Amino acid sequence: MENGAVKPVIVAIDGPSGTGKSSTSKAVAAQLGLSYLDTGAQYRAITWWMVTNGIDLTDPTAIAAVAGKPEIVSGTDPAHPTITVDGVDVSAPIRTQDVTSKVSAVSAVPEVRTRITELQRTLASSAEAGIVVEGRDIGTTVLPDADLKVFLTASAEARAARRSGELKGADVNATREALIQRDAADSTRKTSPLAKAGDAVEVDTTELTLAQVIECVVTLVEEKRAGQ
Ligand code: C5P
Repeated sequence: MENGAVKPVIVAIDGPSGTGKSSTSKAVAAQLGLSYLDTGAQYRAITWWMVTNGIDLTDPTAIAAVAGKPEIVSGTDPAHPTITVDGVDVSAPIRTQDVTSKVSAVSAVPEVRTRITELQRTLASSAEAGIVVEGRDIGTTVLPDADLKVFLTASAEARAARRSGELKGADVNATREALIQRDAADSTRKTSPLAKAGDAVEVDTTELTLAQVIECVVTLVEEKRAGQ
């Protein structure tokens, strides 16, 4: 670019639950001075609002009818990501088991996806230095022109073990079954399912430490930047 200005870099990190997407994305963004967006938190936030407002989540028409109502605002500082719904900090309640078990039904509704995708594109285009966006459909649908696309995977056992560690001693078998069910729902929905983009770099994190995954993604971003 002219005047030595660095072009903003857009990094898409997708993959199923428990592959280390959030920890990796936050650390990569912090190390490289980029913004960070957790798109799962946005789908959790709209789900929380629907639960709180008594919307029938077995009825996609009812979900679609109110998809535009809640105002969802994401703060994109990787050191302190925030999320509010109509001005209320929902960072804790969106992590409850209740929201986790219901989010796939809400995120499968096309009107919800259109709404949230719009928010994501606005945030990505306004990030000055660039942004790391993590989710399920970022490389395939939300930001198909991202500079770098990474698809993180890990065995179901490794993913369940990590998640039950995060949930402080939750039963590993039950966590594993819940993860498999959620991934199956997210991968088979009609609108922008969880999928690896054709041009994404796949990183299997099963045998890697978090530090190794972070280093790998930072190197990939730096290589892309050097090649631009
Ligand atoms: O990443 P996290 O586990 O918090 O995501 C919660 C849910 O949000 C996923 O299970 C999926 O249903 C939905 N999601 C999505 N598309 C994204 C990110 C998350 O459908 N880009």
